[in-house]
Amino acid sequence: MKLTVLGRYGKYPNKNGATCSYLVESKSGAKIILDMGSGSLKNLANVCAYEDIDAVVISHFHGDHCADAFVFRNIALEQTKKGLRAPISFFMPEQPQEEYYALSSCEGFAAQAVCGGMKTSIKDFCLEFFEMSHTLPTFGVRVTDGEKCLAYTADTTYTKTIKTLVEGCDLALVDACILQREHSAESPHISVYGIAELTKSVPVTILTHLSQGREDETLSEALGINKNARLAEELITLTL
Ligand SMILES: [Zn+2]
Ligand SMILES: [Zn+2]
Repeated sequence: MKLTVLGRYGKYPNKNGATCSYLVESKSGAKIILDMGSGSLKNLANVCAYEDIDAVVISHFHGDHCADAFVFRNIALEQTKKGLRAPISFFMPEQPQEEYYALSSCEGFAAQAVCGGMKTSIKDFCLEFFEMSHTLPTFGVRVTDGEKCLAYTADTTYTKTIKTLVEGCDLALVDACILQREHSAESPHISVYGIAELTKSVPVTILTHLSQGREDETLSEALGINKNARLAEELITLTL
């Protein structure tokens, strides 16, 4: 399995970067996109043809995870109408209804609402969804190809679900946007220290949804408890 980071920031992109998006590819070439944050489509175009994407998963409807999905629907519609591809499998929460409708009504998407515990397969990939704890309905996902397993937390505060989601996985892609010193009980995200601690037995922990200007401090806080932690880097491909 291969992971290519297409966007690594939370909130908003910087001049060269993008917000959350990840291309995951199986050995046999199945391709799924986890989240489509702002600025991520141009990175995707640099590594893969749009028509080769088998499925898209949107974890939740905050703009830093879904903004470019509202542009990608134009591509999917055009390609479907031209007969270049069948409607693309498109997994997302059913709420907020307005956003769900805006994407599910696109003829280029074969929309499916997700719920916690739902399992599905895309070619040789198996996907399992986990309900996380955030300010909007949000779903983490485990992606397995029979050999390797990647777990993506999306955005989440502390919840017992995180442990189940990352248990036994080979790589955890985790929400790491709030340093311990800036964290409070009201924060809509777990702290960097908290998520690094929960994933310390995972072989590789990729810190993502980064806070701009805090990258070095984020890595150093995580490495204090988890020697397997590293920062997400855009357009770098990791093989599991
Ligand atoms: Zn976010
Ligand atoms: Zn969010």
